[in-house]
Amino acid sequence: MTAYSTDSPTTWTLEALKELHDQPLMELLFRAATVHREHHDPNEVQVSSLVSIKTGGCPEDCGYCPQAARYHTDIEENALLSVEQVKTAAERAKGLGSSRLCMGAAWRNVRDDAEFEQVLELVRTVNGLDMEVCATLGMLTPNQAERLAAAGLYAYNHNLDSSEDYYKEVISTRGYEDRLETIGNARQAGLTVCSGGIIGMGESVEDRLKMLLTLGSLRPVPESVPINALVAVPGTPLEDQRPVDIFEMVRMIAVTRIVMPSTTVRLSAGRTDMSPEGQALCFFAGAGSIFAGDKLLTTPNPEAFADMELFSALGLRPTQAYAKGERPVPTADPGPPEQKRPIRWSRPGHKIERNEAKRK
Ligand code: SF4
Repeated sequence: MTAYSTDSPTTWTLEALKELHDQPLMELLFRAATVHREHHDPNEVQVSSLVSIKTGGCPEDCGYCPQAARYHTDIEENALLSVEQVKTAAERAKGLGSSRLCMGAAWRNVRDDAEFEQVLELVRTVNGLDMEVCATLGMLTPNQAERLAAAGLYAYNHNLDSSEDYYKEVISTRGYEDRLETIGNARQAGLTVCSGGIIGMGESVEDRLKMLLTLGSLRPVPESVPINALVAVPGTPLEDQRPVDIFEMVRMIAVTRIVMPSTTVRLSAGRTDMSPEGQALCFFAGAGSIFAGDKLLTTPNPEAFADMELFSALGLRPTQAYAKGERPVPTADPGPPEQKRPIRWSRPGHKIERNEAKRK
């Protein structure tokens, strides 16, 4: 039997990652599982829930997203949910075993307005339920990140989606550097970082690995890395993409596990197309979290009872809240900036043919 080192080199090269990714699957799985149990309890998987606090009408053109206003999809739009609505959803999720609630809003970026004040109240409310509170609200300024941290936010999600090169093939309305800037702003404010990507958008394996190189080079590395399989939604530019092969997903999770040993790798969108056996392989490869609830923002997800059956069959336990960090205690709100400055997020301005073709 090969004895693998579970230490991750400080820096990986693309060549080394390719070699890692392409080795026989059983070797890769063994190595990833070895790293996983050195850094995590292999019998614990965190159950997280996603609540879409504001759905649809987004001005961006992400080619995978049914919430982009420019595409013809049949999602039900909703304005920002009230504190009571989110509290009810959070309590229900907690009752079904979730220890983390991620609130998603279909915004390009956060604005210093009444809706943001309401989001801060949502964060305080869910923090008060003793759940890890995560938010994904688009691009953030340093001040907005500080205000979220003061309200008790635990994590900020901002996905890199793919490699810098392939990002330009999927989104034309903002740049990769904008993503990295927001991640930096969240980190500076003391938030933990959740950032990952989507496979199955037509990218190459090299693009996937380049994304992992970027994530793995962040210091500190993100505490949480969601790996999504594209859910090809009719009406979006990526509607015709073929489903992701389960072994591609397993390889991606295994490589992510090895590159970022302490990170929680999250098996995210696309689980409805995976068999229980396929999901079990993902857990073996190092996935330490799933998203529960019958919808992931707007795309389908396995129902809670199916997940609990799977946990029972595999002998898995749901992870408790704050198992890997301290619960943030809300502090005084620093308030909005005295002077509003124009936001400098980029608009790269290039055109993506398949996005344009699906435009209203
Ligand atoms: S992924 Fe987010 S930013 Fe992109 S279109 Fe959807 S809601 Fe908007």
